[in-house]
Amino acid sequence: MAKHYNLNLISYQLCYTVDDISLLFKKNKLHVQTVRSWIKNGLNTIDSKQPLLVFGYELKEFLGKLNNSKKISTKFDEFYCFSCKCPEIPYQRKIYIEKNGSYIKAKGICSKSKKPTNKSYKLTDYQELKKTFNLVDELELYDSTNTPLKTHILDHDKNASNESLQGSLF
Ligand SMILES: [Zn+2]
Repeated sequence: MAKHYNLNLISYQLCYTVDDISLLFKKNKLHVQTVRSWIKNGLNTIDSKQPLLVFGYELKEFLGKLNNSKKISTKFDEFYCFSCKCPEIPYQRKIYIEKNGSYIKAKGICSKSKKPTNKSYKLTDYQELKKTFNLVDELELYDSTNTPLKTHILDHDKNASNESLQGSLF
């Protein structure tokens, strides 16, 4: 049940909030959390001010890529990377998984671009996932990359790091 987003619903000239986008694709049952995850994974916003606004043309381009990525089949151990625009095996085969309704949501880090990638699996894939990947905590995923988050923590003592950690993640 791959979701295809109808790009004709988007106007180039308009700006959209996260809620607008979710409403626009009501038929796709698009959740605001999904839109937020797109923003984390490369959908550009105008700036970081709340409410976040997305230009129509940016949304069109992003969803165009998303529609195309569904056509590219990934092997069981590959995740599609939006930065590299091709399937990649997650860095150190580390993934974080959580149950999301009737499927498993898996997150990884691209071994080339070090950008977050994700993929959905069937609940029945769980045993195979355990064999194929190193299942880790969500934070451990980000620990293995050279993101500013890590240097940020190293620069501070332990007491200060708890606060800055939260600030950087959300
Ligand atoms: Zn990549």
